[in-house]
Amino acid sequence: MKQFNSIEKRESFEVLNYQIRACEKCSLSVTRKHALTGEGNIDARIMFVALSPGVKEDSENRMFIGPSGQIFNKLLHAAGIDRDVVFMTNLIKCILPKNRKPKMNEIELCSQFLDEEILIIQPEVIVPLGYYATHSILTKYHADPLTQEMSFKNINGQLLILDGMKVFPVTHPSALLYNPSFEPETIEKYKKLKTF
Ligand code: SF4
Repeated sequence: MKQFNSIEKRESFEVLNYQIRACEKCSLSVTRKHALTGEGNIDARIMFVALSPGVKEDSENRMFIGPSGQIFNKLLHAAGIDRDVVFMTNLIKCILPKNRKPKMNEIELCSQFLDEEILIIQPEVIVPLGYYATHSILTKYHADPLTQEMSFKNINGQLLILDGMKVFPVTHPSALLYNPSFEPETIEKYKKLKTF
């Protein structure tokens, strides 16, 4: 695998981010305000992969600044992880209207950008947030059929080694908006990230 130095990473992201911002590969380009590019430390060891931008993120063109972002910050803080040291991105770069589920073709088309981001960042641990990001990462890293068929509940907070990559699926912060009682157990899962 090609190793990028920091200058090459920056240059590669400039090209990739330009492609993302201009992308019209699927119909989500019609309803978005912004196609969000990944954000954070390009030398990060931990890469978080959320599903898609929320309303505030779409409007202001920033990752994790809406209600889910507030919870994400709280989880990171409780886990003792500085937001400045991680990289954050989305499986789907454009907002999903009315919070609807992503379609298979949208995941297939947009995850090509995620593949590029992973190639450039070369994280030590990928942390998919929630069901869709997790199953896309499991497919990318050829998880065995048994793991692929497991419900998200059974792999949430479990470290998986897939094709040499550490994958650590955890609860998406937005889940705590609807189920605040999950917060203590979710904090414990995020804390495990410090040990990797
Ligand atoms: S969701 Fe992804 S593939 Fe679809 S238009 Fe946006 S950036 Fe392009």
